[in-house]
Amino acid sequence: MNFEISETTMQVAQVARDFAQQQIKPFVMEWDESQEFPAATIKAMGALGMMGVLVPEQYGGSGLSYFEYKAIIEEISKVDGSIGLSLAAHNSLCTGHIMMFGSEEQKSKYLPRLASAEWIGAWGLTEANTGSDAGNMKCTAVRKGDQWIIEGTKNWITHGRTGDVAVVICRTGEPRSKSNATAFIVEKGTPGFSGGKKENKLGMRASETAEMVFENCVVSDTCRIGEVGDGFRQSLKVLDGGRISIASLALGIARGAYEAALKYSQERHQFDQPISSFQAISFKLADMATEIEAADLLILQACDLKNRGESVTKISAMAKYYASEVSVRVATDAVQIFGGYGYTKDFPVEKFYRDSKLCTIGEGTSEIQKIVIAREVLK
Ligand SMILES: Cc1cc2nc3c(=O)[nH]c(=O)nc-3n(C[C@H](O)[C@H](O)[C@H](O)COP(=O)(O)OP(=O)(O)OC[C@H]3O[C@@H](n4cnc5c(N)ncnc54)[C@H](O)[C@@H]3O)c2cc1C
Repeated sequence: MNFEISETTMQVAQVARDFAQQQIKPFVMEWDESQEFPAATIKAMGALGMMGVLVPEQYGGSGLSYFEYKAIIEEISKVDGSIGLSLAAHNSLCTGHIMMFGSEEQKSKYLPRLASAEWIGAWGLTEANTGSDAGNMKCTAVRKGDQWIIEGTKNWITHGRTGDVAVVICRTGEPRSKSNATAFIVEKGTPGFSGGKKENKLGMRASETAEMVFENCVVSDTCRIGEVGDGFRQSLKVLDGGRISIASLALGIARGAYEAALKYSQERHQFDQPISSFQAISFKLADMATEIEAADLLILQACDLKNRGESVTKISAMAKYYASEVSVRVATDAVQIFGGYGYTKDFPVEKFYRDSKLCTIGEGTSEIQKIVIAREVLK
């Protein structure tokens, strides 16, 4: 693997960095307090090509690689993890699913709208009783001639209410059988499809998380993605790539928390010296810096393999698991370095602390990542 960061990646990262400083940073706490999902900001990111990073240019996307995708999510998440999460869910899950498994008609219709953020995308796999155990889903799609009737509720869906289009994975076979799920594209406004309860969250509060409710929702068979029964296999592939984005999100949060703590430790004086001169503090900074670099390298390795079209099941689970645990550790230590000030909303670390925890849960918990990794190493 070549560790040199390309000119393109550096330029793209700079655009994301500037955008985050100018268009996100001034509003971070306002959005966090009000739990406002800033759709206009997401659309502005679309105009800069950040909402269709991996989408080929022929479908209106930026046609960039996973290296640039990682850099964008990392830079945005250094300032606001909520926007990083929305960016990741839109690009990797909804758009990614259609890009990987959609028909030519579906790609031509949806990818240009998603890549420009004219439409915001959602992706629904999780249900109230089936998170890690997603194969046991209850939301069903029953075929009636050329149509399917969807019935059930998807929970914890990023952009569940605001999304203009959703990829929904429904049970179309017997519970617990291997090929029991099928993916469908459902547009907002389809009768029987509505947004439900919005979650009141610990962190990532500007990223909308809500139910998607399907009541006698009729969609044409042309909305089906791929073969009947292939939905769960497709989802696992989508999540393989998605985990690189959550790892990048976790890395961005860790870097944001570390940089704030590093600066503060040199400014804050106790016992007539900067607190960074205490070994207890400097060793925390050393651990933070080391773990961040190690997480970065794991993610880069996952990006490299993904760019080359190789299997990333093991490496993306490793990157997601490690980076998200690092993110929580770093954010926790950053609050500790800030002392009492870190416990207030006047400094950014309390938000990094709250936001970081999502990374060990979303798109497969740390425990599930270890199951995936163990399965791969024991093959
Ligand atoms: C902010 C946010 C955004 C999200 N966005 C989306 C989205 O856009 N689309 C979507 O489909 N989903 C989304 N999710 C759902 C997310 O993927 C699930 O929350 C996650 O997969 C965990 O499922 P669960 O919450 O049901 O936990 P559970 O599966 O109930 O797990 C509870 C605990 O049990 C552990 N556990 C479960 N099974 C095992 C096992 N076999 N071995 C060991 N431990 C186990 C877990 O690790 C966890 O610690 C989102 C969640 C959040 C919080």
